[in-house]
Amino acid sequence: MTHAHPFLTAEQKKELNDIAHRIVAPGKGILAADESTGSIAKRFQSINAENTEENRRLYRQLLFTADDRIKPCIGGVIFFHETLYQKDDSGKPFPQLIKEKGVVVGIKVDKGVVPLAGTNGETTTQGLDGLYERCAQYKKDGADFAKWRCVLKITSTTPSSLAIMENANVLARYASICQMVSGLSGYHGIVPIVEPEILPDGDHDLQRCQYVTEKVLAAVYKALSDHHVYLEGTLLKPNMVTAGHSCPKKYTAQEIGMATVTALRRTVPSAVPGITFLSGGQSEEEATINLNAINNCPLHKPWALTFSYGRALQASALKAWGGKKENGKACQEEYIKRALNNSQAALGKYVSSGNEGTAAGESLFVANHAY
Ligand code: 13P
Repeated sequence: MTHAHPFLTAEQKKELNDIAHRIVAPGKGILAADESTGSIAKRFQSINAENTEENRRLYRQLLFTADDRIKPCIGGVIFFHETLYQKDDSGKPFPQLIKEKGVVVGIKVDKGVVPLAGTNGETTTQGLDGLYERCAQYKKDGADFAKWRCVLKITSTTPSSLAIMENANVLARYASICQMVSGLSGYHGIVPIVEPEILPDGDHDLQRCQYVTEKVLAAVYKALSDHHVYLEGTLLKPNMVTAGHSCPKKYTAQEIGMATVTALRRTVPSAVPGITFLSGGQSEEEATINLNAINNCPLHKPWALTFSYGRALQASALKAWGGKKENGKACQEEYIKRALNNSQAALGKYVSSGNEGTAAGESLFVANHAY
């Protein structure tokens, strides 16, 4: 082993690093609005809305046209492929609409999970074929960052070393492709969000989740290093360290904050600009309180620690909308409320007032969650 063949110029590295920092600027996080057509079907079913392309456009238009109060809260929005090519009522493409608000456009590029043979229900994530070309096209069409989600499960026999290794490697391969889209189209730097989600299903305690999170993240960063990924131009999207959903023991937000920051400090290099947590089935309020506790954890934290929430930013908004045009304003108000609260939590300044939205306290847990 001698040295890596340089693949990014100083300007390209700067572009990637600047994009990452814009997304996680102080008080800012990410709206994950990249539910696949199948996932949004389940969300719409819960409010009795029909899952048509037009309804998906109308709902996302509400989120993307929320007023300027969200400006200091949202640094990036993750789109699903379909949404990237949809337009608002006046004909303006959604990516343009978002960019005009100073928000960075992201795109989910994975193609979902598939079984790993011979394991106890474990998976890897597919979507590498054609990814070079898709990234080049997405960059032209306005995306500056991407997301790829891998899933790991905690049981008495998992995660297996095969699942840890395979998922770490596929995340690293994806990340390197995002940063180095080469070939005929030249350079199109996309900041990869690396998402190894450890599901909250199970009755394991906080310590076991911390142990597994450390092992998974250590493998992910070894693979990223092996694949020469430029860490300053990446973001990490992990689970918070929490006990399993059916663990009888309950832990305080301070305990969750300490376990999470401890695991991250042991495994995530300080070159990584930001860690943007998924909400993973926590209620909206829990996700905000835990993020706040993470930011108040009395250990040195060299990265921005913020949110990249799907369910925990949208549950009250979806409920308020209910698929009805006349509820558009109410939907936006709920979304803005969660965005403001999470922005405060990303700064460690959130004070809960107890009544934070129509679905704020409801568990958003979905067993064996797919996205
Ligand atoms: P949740 O916040 O709903 O867990 O989803 C975020 C996400 O993008 C998962 O890939």
